[in-house]
Amino acid sequence: MSELLHVGNGARSGALEAERFVLAFGEADHRQVRLLGGKGAGLARLTAEGFPAPPGFIITTDACRSVTATGTVPAGLFTEVLEHLTTLERHTGKSFGAGPSPLLLSVRSGAPVSMPGMMDTVLNLGINRETAVAIAEASGDRRFMADVLVRFHRMYSEIVLGGSGEAVAEAAHELVEHAGPRDAAELHDELWAACQRAVLDEVGEEVPAEPREQLRGAIEAVFRSWNNRRAVTYRDFHRIPHDLGTAVVVQSMVFGNLGSPSGSGVVFTRNPVTGDPQLYGEYLEGGQGEDVVAGTATPEQIAYAARRLPVLFDELRSQCGRLEALYGDVLDIEFTVERGRLYLLQVRSAKRTPEAAIRIAADFLREARLPRSDALAPVTAAQIRQLERPQFADGAVSAARAAGRLLTTGVGASPGQVSGTLVLDPDRAVKRVVHGEEVILARPITSPVDLHGMIASRGIVTATGGATSHAAVVARALAKPCVVGCGEATIEPDQGRLSVGGRVIAEGETISIDGLSGEVFAGALPMTAPAAANPDLSLLLGEADRLAGCRIMGRVTTPEHVATVLDRGATGVVTSVDDVLATTGHLNELIDSLLAQRDLDTLDLTRMEAGIAEVFEPILRAAGAAEVGVRAIDFQADEARELMQQTQLLTFYPQLSVPVGMPALLRAQLAGLITAAKRSGGGGRVHLAVRHVSDPREARALRELSRQAEGRVQVGTYLTSPRGALLSAGIAEESDVIWLEVRVMQAAMFGIPPRQLLTQRPLDDYVKRGLIDTDPRHAIDPTLHGILTAVATAAAEHPRCEVGMRLSGPVSEEIAATLYRIGFRLFAVDGDEVRPARLAFGKAPSTEPAASGVA
Ligand code: ADP
Ligand code: MG
Repeated sequence: MSELLHVGNGARSGALEAERFVLAFGEADHRQVRLLGGKGAGLARLTAEGFPAPPGFIITTDACRSVTATGTVPAGLFTEVLEHLTTLERHTGKSFGAGPSPLLLSVRSGAPVSMPGMMDTVLNLGINRETAVAIAEASGDRRFMADVLVRFHRMYSEIVLGGSGEAVAEAAHELVEHAGPRDAAELHDELWAACQRAVLDEVGEEVPAEPREQLRGAIEAVFRSWNNRRAVTYRDFHRIPHDLGTAVVVQSMVFGNLGSPSGSGVVFTRNPVTGDPQLYGEYLEGGQGEDVVAGTATPEQIAYAARRLPVLFDELRSQCGRLEALYGDVLDIEFTVERGRLYLLQVRSAKRTPEAAIRIAADFLREARLPRSDALAPVTAAQIRQLERPQFADGAVSAARAAGRLLTTGVGASPGQVSGTLVLDPDRAVKRVVHGEEVILARPITSPVDLHGMIASRGIVTATGGATSHAAVVARALAKPCVVGCGEATIEPDQGRLSVGGRVIAEGETISIDGLSGEVFAGALPMTAPAAANPDLSLLLGEADRLAGCRIMGRVTTPEHVATVLDRGATGVVTSVDDVLATTGHLNELIDSLLAQRDLDTLDLTRMEAGIAEVFEPILRAAGAAEVGVRAIDFQADEARELMQQTQLLTFYPQLSVPVGMPALLRAQLAGLITAAKRSGGGGRVHLAVRHVSDPREARALRELSRQAEGRVQVGTYLTSPRGALLSAGIAEESDVIWLEVRVMQAAMFGIPPRQLLTQRPLDDYVKRGLIDTDPRHAIDPTLHGILTAVATAAAEHPRCEVGMRLSGPVSEEIAATLYRIGFRLFAVDGDEVRPARLAFGKAPSTEPAASGVA
């Protein structure tokens, strides 16, 4: 819609266009996140609700999209900006580029989806000779003026002109240290000249001395930063569409580095590492906010700061409480204190560890402050998967400590325990990972340019920075173990070594880290099996089950596995004859016997029948009253190819490639299962499902086989083709259960091997190149919608036949929501996906349809 308007209005001039791209905080509607970006929307909401946000305005994402599309800034945009600037001057009583009370600005990026630290921000913009002198006079502090000037110059040269920023910092350092008795104007002139020389040497260009030019340059740089390498990498990784664009927030500056008490910090309304309902965060006395966020200084914990400044932090606490209630979520808030006055600069949903997400959601449910489905919303299936991941084995940590392998202890910033090869450079980390190594990336400090290395690594270590630094925030977002602030360690990427005390660990050696305790060990530590469920998680998933009203069966292959999967909350289990035979060592026997006999008429499968009875008895016993779905042997499955010498078998028995081609084999499986069911004493329902059925007549033939077998095992059909699905109404007449395999159906629609839907390549590259508009691993393809709807309708008309969906691999929340919407309520998932799936289906009833599959 807005896109169309632009085209339509392209030829119009002045006033009308001026309405379009810029909105003051006070006039923006905070619900329009796509237009305002997350940061802009947050500031609009803070302003509307009367929280102390410094005033400013937002250039919408429409402008950025227009810049990306046309390569130039929309005509009239800058005029519109200047109009808003005039209003801002009036509002603040300050003047931009002039004394006596100069208005300085921050120019901040802010996309509709949080991309912390990926794009650029310029602070302290609006410095020239006159404002510098005025700042020195107003603050009574020439050093403050110098600090502001140098920071601006450094950020501008780095972000707008593409320099390193370091040259400026170095050039200025001397002069600031020896500020001497010069007056403010002289100090400004010397500093400005020195800084300009440094940038000119480095990038061949100067920082504009005219504040309005500075503003224009910074706005354009923020637009450009949407497509910088790290932002693009981040979007690829998180599957964020590249066409959203960023908004630009232009805001009046407040100063944490001016007078006392001043400072800046980041606060979380609850602990984002553990979920503990206490304010958590950091505060840097006398710092500008970027010092905290960039991790260039190690700040103090909020709890300490609160003891020193109780009144101020009581106010902060009460605002956090009100905001959490307003948003119904745990928030991450950037704030600055200028001479005792508190300002909020940013508010957003807090990135949190899986542990914290679950604890928080459970607390929200207990506190009953939100609709129950809202409490589940921030928890993801991926987080539950993460929570069940392996840890260091019992006693491994104390043994390593006793053996003197503890190298150092930093700040645990993102929990999880891992071992891996130490690598000190992001590019080298990526190289090693490509060659199959598992890597821990250690850096003096991580900056957003390290992102690709962080994504590739299993864990992250930094020497400086606190729990809210870039490394920490990104690691939590990636759910990777991370230790920051290892102050005792010296990390030298160029030398390829990490040293602590006298010990040196070279790149390529193994280290282990604990992202909760902050410990870093030399060498590898033994790992355990995944951790057991916790009570918070049980509470949450119980609620999810109630909301979804689905039955979720988990895939198993052994009796022990049955117990685990039922313990995870599965309502039943699914397994297959070939898997069970393979894991008990009987499959080769069967294949050998088939290859030895080679004659259908005299085929003797009694040993096989007995074998099936034997291996299934303990499985059915373990399942007790729970339902068991067994898939019949499938010699032509994609996965079976290598396993079962399929080519040879199919040469001798071409009948094996059609579902009911060899009734004797089906009879043997049915009879074996019936015996196993009898002996096991388990009372649950058991069915045998046959794959690749695509015709009601096949289903009728199967039903006939089961009648002859006369046991309490039912028959089901397992549809893998569009034909089968489209004829499901007829098939349902003849079956007790129909299963549909989502992955196989999707692959059939695309005509690619189903196994490619379980791997990253080649589809990652394919999607990135834009060659398909739905990623079948993450979304149901629109071509399949109609077919699935037909199946759901058929199922509804045949209540005696149940219809279930088999999902293999990690359960995609989007796929789960689509299937739920279409009407499916019975699912079978991999054994370790039972809990993630319970959550995904719990969220499904309140999930809105997604706009596009690839997004
Ligand atoms: P990011 O998206 O990377 O967090 P921000 O736009 O939030 O970038 O800016 C980085 C830091 O700059 C903020 O954490 C904040 O402390 C500081 N900052 C931004 N705007 C202002 C302002 N108006 N006054 C003071 N500090 C600011
Ligand atoms: Mg920020």
